[in-house]
Amino acid sequence: MSREREKGGPSTRAVHGGERDTRARVTDSLTTPIVQTAAFWFRDTQEVIAYQEGRHPSFEYGRYGNPTTRAVETKLCGLEAGEDCVVSASGMNSVTTMLLALVPQNGHVVTTHDCYRRTRQFMQTVLPKMGVRCTVIDPADLAALERAVAEGANLFFSESPTNPYLRVVDVRAVAERCRPRGTIVVIDSTLATPVNQQALPLGADLVLHSVTKYLAGHNDVLAGALVGREALIRPIRELHGVLGGVIDPHAAYLVLRGMKTLVLRVARANENAGAIARYLEQHDKIERVHYPGLPSHRDHAVALRQMRGFGGMVSFEVRGGLDGASKLIDALRIPYIAPSMGGVESLIEQPTIISYWDKTPEERAQLGIRDNLVRYSCGIEDTDDLIRDLEQALERV
Ligand SMILES: *Cc1c(COP(=O)(O)O)cnc(C)c1O
Repeated sequence: MSREREKGGPSTRAVHGGERDTRARVTDSLTTPIVQTAAFWFRDTQEVIAYQEGRHPSFEYGRYGNPTTRAVETKLCGLEAGEDCVVSASGMNSVTTMLLALVPQNGHVVTTHDCYRRTRQFMQTVLPKMGVRCTVIDPADLAALERAVAEGANLFFSESPTNPYLRVVDVRAVAERCRPRGTIVVIDSTLATPVNQQALPLGADLVLHSVTKYLAGHNDVLAGALVGREALIRPIRELHGVLGGVIDPHAAYLVLRGMKTLVLRVARANENAGAIARYLEQHDKIERVHYPGLPSHRDHAVALRQMRGFGGMVSFEVRGGLDGASKLIDALRIPYIAPSMGGVESLIEQPTIISYWDKTPEERAQLGIRDNLVRYSCGIEDTDDLIRDLEQALERV
């Protein structure tokens, strides 16, 4: 694994990482086989004993691991520069398993506004049952972070970039403040991908991915992953074996296949989002564009320092409120109206309607979700086609 990780650039690692060794162990198949099994057998009792004593490698049972899944884990280690990785059935399963494994009873977690809705829900409605409290801060408020760390916060969790306003957390500055008191720093890098940002070398302890999005990349499978030091992954993997949110080997194969083209897809999504952001920013029917690649974005300086690309997602506010935004969305011909992101198809949504329709306008305002906000998640279509599509749709707003 380490030999392969050190070899070659990100594209080479995305294609080859984790796979050669797995294949040679199993068959001569050029592609990594889908090892569709629930359990692993032993030749004789001596082999079972050897396994128990750590002298014979085996996954034993499908809840504890699988060769196809292991290939995904090894590939992701290579891309994030991490020691170990645990892949699970969804991003949310990675979030919940990680928090339950690492946060002690009566503990304290810190997160940022603009957090993925279900992550926030888990922190604010399930963790309190274990006496865990949750402090929510602005992504740029390092003073608030320092106060929480001084109070003994166990874990800091944030996306970077965040969703939907694409705030960028200064990972190095956060890690410097958390390290002295041992506050674990977890960065949800789903929107960035390892192509645009590697949070571990910046000082994060763990990187989390909804693999469902860019890593798998084809809107056809759900998966999640955590990457970091072996010593931090171990307790998460152990609890994962108890909670049981395992990915199916066939889903792991789809992830492997998707990840081979990660670098190419993300490069195109970056280009598309950058072009759309610049186009919309000068359009008089658009009030505001949120994209970390724009000099007007609040966290542009941080993004320039820690990101190699600014991602495939653009958020913007349309003149004409809720209806103006809906009209634009309905007039577009290329992006599908759907949640999620990171696949080859462009997707578009109005967060107010798709995620927060059960809230009152006041509650939405409190969460910072504006009714005229649109989230455009770029796929890999031709840039000119996406811009022309926006042109024709904006004429009809
Ligand atoms: C989608 C998403 C998740 C949840 O992942 P699932 O694979 O849908 O469970 C978590 N964080 C972010 C930033 C996401 O976009």
